[in-house]
Amino acid sequence: TIAARATGLTKTYGQGTAKVVALDAVDFEVVQGEFTAIMGPSGSGKSTLMHLLAALDTPTGGTVHIGDTDVASLKDTPLTELRRDRIGFIFQAFNLVPTLTARENIVLPLAIAGRKVDQDWFDRIVDVLGLADRLTHKPSELSGGQQQRVACARALMNRPDIVFGDEPTGNLDSTSASEVLSFLRRSVDEFGQTVVMVTHDAHAASYADRAVFLSDGRIVDEMRGASQEDL
Ligand code: ADP
Ligand code: ADP
Repeated sequence: TIAARATGLTKTYGQGTAKVVALDAVDFEVVQGEFTAIMGPSGSGKSTLMHLLAALDTPTGGTVHIGDTDVASLKDTPLTELRRDRIGFIFQAFNLVPTLTARENIVLPLAIAGRKVDQDWFDRIVDVLGLADRLTHKPSELSGGQQQRVACARALMNRPDIVFGDEPTGNLDSTSASEVLSFLRRSVDEFGQTVVMVTHDAHAASYADRAVFLSDGRIVDEMRGASQEDL
C-alpha cells in the first residue's frame, strides 16, 4: 500500500532571474510501514519535498497524494483535518509548548481535535520512550533528548498514517539521537508506523529501510538496507 505519492512534483521560489527550482518534477512513493530517509546536501530540496508531502506547502506543479487523497483537491477544513489526523511531525527544534507539561504537550493534538486520549496507547508510547517519570515536567525542565522524545510521543498520539521528521536528531547529542532513532525504528517494526525523515546524517539514515538522495531538486540515487558506511 502506498502511504504517500508525489508525481511530477515541482516547486519554484521567486521569479525571473531570482527564480530557484527547489524541486524539479520529482516522482516519489512512500510505502506503508516503511522508514524512509531523505538525504542530500544543503539546498538540494529535502525540506521542500517533505513540506509538500506533509501538505504544509503548495507545489508549483505536480501532485501529492496521501493515501488515496489528492491533497490539492482539499479545501481548508479537510486539509486542516488531514494534517491534524493523518500526519505527525517531529521538528529539529522540538517545538513543544513551553508553558505545558510533557503530558499536556503529548496529548495536545488530541485536545485540539476534541478527541479522547487512548490511555493504553498513551501508556505504551510513554513506556517505550522512557518518559513515565517526566510527564509532569515542563520542557525547560527536560534535556534536549527528553524534549524530543516528548515530541515523538506527541507525533504518534493520534496514530497518524505518516510521521515526518525534519532533521529530528539535528539538535541532539549522539546518545539522545540514537534513542530517538531507535524509537522511530521500533515504531515501524512494532506499530507498523510509516516514517519519512529528512537528514544529512549517515548515522541517522542507517536506521531507515531506504535512503533517497536529492541533488539540485532531483532524486539522483536510492539505497535499501544501507549501513552507516554505505551512506
Ligand atoms: P534542503 O532542505 O535540502 O536544504 P530546501 O528545500 O530548504 O533544501 O531548499 C531548496 C532550494 O530552495 C534552495 O536553493 C533554497 O535556497 C531554496 N528555498 C527554500 N525555501 C525557500 C524560500 N522560502 N524562498 C526562496 N527560496 C527558497
Ligand atoms: P497553523 O498554520 O495551522 O496555525 P502552525 O504554524 O502552528 O499551523 O504549524 C505548522 C504545521 O505544523 C500545521 O499545519 C500543523 O498541522 C503542524 N503542527 C503544529 N503543531 C503540531 C502538533 N503539535 N502536532 C502535529 N502537528 C502539528
